[in-house]
Amino acid sequence: MSQATESDVREDGVIESVSGPVVTAKDLDARMNDVVYVGHEGLMGEVIEIEGNLTTIQVYEETSGVSPGEPVESTGAPLSVDLGPGMLDSIYDGVQRPLDVLEEKMGSAFLDRGVDAPGIDLEKTWEFTPEVEEGDEVEAGDVVGIVPETASIDHKVMVPPDYEGGEVVAVESGNFNVEETVVELDNGEEIQMRQEWPVREARPTVDKETPTEPLTSGQRILDGLFPLAKGGTAAIPGPFGSGKTVAQQSLAKFADADIVVYIGCGERGNEMTEVIDDFPDLPDPQTGNALMARTCLIANTSNMPVAARESCVYTGITIAEFYRDMGYDVALMADSTSRWAEAMREISSRLEEMPGEEGYPAYLAARLSEFYERAGYFENINGTEGSVSVIGAVSPPGGDFSEPVTQNTLRIVKTFWALDADLAERRHFPAINWDESYSLYREQLDPWFTENVADDWPEQRQWAIDTLDEEGELQEIVQLVGKDALPEDQQLTLEVARFLKEAWLQQNALHDVDRYCPPEKTYEILGAIKTFNDEAFDALDAGVPVEEITDIDALPRLNRIGTTPDDEAEAFVEDLEADITEQLRALY
Ligand code: ADP
Repeated sequence: MSQATESDVREDGVIESVSGPVVTAKDLDARMNDVVYVGHEGLMGEVIEIEGNLTTIQVYEETSGVSPGEPVESTGAPLSVDLGPGMLDSIYDGVQRPLDVLEEKMGSAFLDRGVDAPGIDLEKTWEFTPEVEEGDEVEAGDVVGIVPETASIDHKVMVPPDYEGGEVVAVESGNFNVEETVVELDNGEEIQMRQEWPVREARPTVDKETPTEPLTSGQRILDGLFPLAKGGTAAIPGPFGSGKTVAQQSLAKFADADIVVYIGCGERGNEMTEVIDDFPDLPDPQTGNALMARTCLIANTSNMPVAARESCVYTGITIAEFYRDMGYDVALMADSTSRWAEAMREISSRLEEMPGEEGYPAYLAARLSEFYERAGYFENINGTEGSVSVIGAVSPPGGDFSEPVTQNTLRIVKTFWALDADLAERRHFPAINWDESYSLYREQLDPWFTENVADDWPEQRQWAIDTLDEEGELQEIVQLVGKDALPEDQQLTLEVARFLKEAWLQQNALHDVDRYCPPEKTYEILGAIKTFNDEAFDALDAGVPVEEITDIDALPRLNRIGTTPDDEAEAFVEDLEADITEQLRALY
């Protein structure tokens, strides 16, 4: 969060009334969305309504003890984030105050109020290596230098988007703090490593392109059946105990993104504490460094005030856009958007707005879509390409998907990964239900998969989908009459589908090898099951009974491909397919 300087501060107002996080002030000289400081303690808030002489403010901190008559002052600036090196490896609250700094200042991250802290360390120095020379022309967005931000990520120092640009007249090299000028232009514009941006406004780009590359996740069910595009949007519901935490950590670790922004938005306090405790210890399998070296965490637990929950998703997505501008692929995970929507509902009801469905404000759908709209694969103003992919968790009360937040989310996002408590109970992990999940990116990403993995990727996948569909229908009959009443070919389909589920869709996040499956291996496992299918049906046609077909020695090895080291998998599958073929053909 940017700090207001003395000169920013405008006319004082006076508190008229206080209702939870909503405070009304009179005589305040402020504009919509300006940040204001409320009461003697200077609690941070934001103007959300102005009517005549009365200004309504949502306050990001607990307002107990605040009373009418206390002063309110406006900073004259909208809610903005500080952008610059140091954001990675940081843990922030919903208005970008670093939790470690808050904790230091007040002994506990959750108790005291009125503490302001800049989003990035203003004292720390960074080694700036210029990428421009005197005499160069630069425009808004252009990269003027590089700073090694963490062991994993080079931070690109860019001309702020609202600068005019011009000729470089002075350029520094060496160690500087984020407020020192490193490049000067002939029009007097000075570039520092830090810039600010209002959180509710998307950072400008040249063009939003149709995503054509997958954000591969190393999770077979996702890459194989329900792929997300780089710059795409996904929703994941999180029933308790369904493996949501493990799924999110797997995505954070293995998704093919340069940067991860993780927004913990008002989930149960202890759950967020778990994230804060766990994340800093996670290794990054891509680089061997800490995962935090390419992660920014924003943590708002449900015991933090409701308005800060409302702002945290904007803080997060603005940070994501900033790294996108550098040309990076960013994955943003928001957990949970339901808690965010509840914060909106609470503030709306305090404002006595006309409620929509289930008490949510009528603008719920608009806010959700504005947020997801900021995802995308973009051509940036500096000519680079970058993406922000958004994965939003929803937590519908009682698992009821018909409620407004889930429904409105499903209308917007193009991928849905349905985590399923029943599958988790049966220890089928990842517990993603293949009947209910979908991805509208599938066809759009096919050219990438056919070019980079295998020509017949789309056909193989379609075969898997058809087989799983058929299995679903057969299971209904089996429940009524038992498996033995089915004709042999259908019994065989059930066996093939069993391998699809056990050897392909299931994946053990706790196994060193299996936790990450490259797309090539995802394809190979599926191919091996398809080989078994084709050979088995030939054997069946030749009169071999199903029990004999499913009894061949080679078959259990299908379940071991996932745990076979990646560089041995191809040979393992080749041998296995040869054995399956040989053993089945020997039966007739
Ligand atoms: P939630 O966050 O939904 O309450 P967790 O993610 O903590 O659930 O998962 C609960 C348990 O399920 C984990 O401790 C783990 O034993 C098991 N589990 C979840 N996903 C996987 C997976 N992909 N592979 C193996 N075990 C898993």
